[in-house]
Amino acid sequence: MIIFKSINKLNKEVNFKANMGFVPTMGSLHNGHISLIKSSKKKCKKTLVSIFINPSQFNKKNDLRNYPRNLKKDIKVLKKLKVDYLLIPKINEIYKNNKDKKIKLSKKDKIMCAFYRPGHFEGVLAVINQFLKKIKLRFIFLGEKDYQQLFLIRKFIKKKFKIRVFSCKTIRDKNKIALSSRNNLLKKNDLKKSSYIASLLLNLRIKLKNNISLKYEIENIVKKINKLENIKVEYLEIRNKKNLTKNYNKNNFKIFFAYYNKNVRLIDNY
Ligand code: AMP
Repeated sequence: MIIFKSINKLNKEVNFKANMGFVPTMGSLHNGHISLIKSSKKKCKKTLVSIFINPSQFNKKNDLRNYPRNLKKDIKVLKKLKVDYLLIPKINEIYKNNKDKKIKLSKKDKIMCAFYRPGHFEGVLAVINQFLKKIKLRFIFLGEKDYQQLFLIRKFIKKKFKIRVFSCKTIRDKNKIALSSRNNLLKKNDLKKSSYIASLLLNLRIKLKNNISLKYEIENIVKKINKLENIKVEYLEIRNKKNLTKNYNKNNFKIFFAYYNKNVRLIDNY
């Protein structure tokens, strides 16, 4: 694996003619990231992984400060997977000026995480825009775990780039918790609650599949979850998975969920 700390160098030394899969990450790699990397390795000749904790997508300073960092371990994991290239860019190479740091969202996209984390997706789209402008890529691999992010990036790429987006299913641990780098910030006891919540919502999905009018259950479930110690629901919404509107039926719905476990914000969808 060749490690690049500069995009300039990467562009000079790598032949992008061989089809290249790109897996952008913020590090603290887990099996969710690994499944994206494996998909890329299967579909593409070469795989480029990036590790960049993008400051412009954090709307709270403390959240950025506390975000888990495990670069040494990540490099070991990537070497073992025989990833071809790892890019660890510096912030001043990504953003040349302040206007590069945000891409505006339309009013109708300001729902769920875009509503509760103002500026977050503006920063996500900005970093994707910078990567795709600066590196000649054709394939990008993203996880369904961050479904609204996947939806917005797909829409953005379709307008601006000739790049194919591949999405990968959410990877869960044996207790049904969606893997997330932020789980590293939780203790065993906190994770037990996340596991209980995931089972409740996986169960809700089954019930809605059988009877979509059961959506009144949502309020009861929110109450039940909020009763758990140190847990606070931010939103629990059902939406159409194709366009994220509230116009859904039993064949196209998805449950979207964001909550705080202690002070750690987690998201999932079912
Ligand atoms: P992150 O490092 O959190 O920015 O995530 C990098 C990529 O990994 C994004 O495309 C995420 O959607 C994806 N990802 C994160 N967690 C999971 C998971 N549990 N299963 C599948 N993909 C994931």
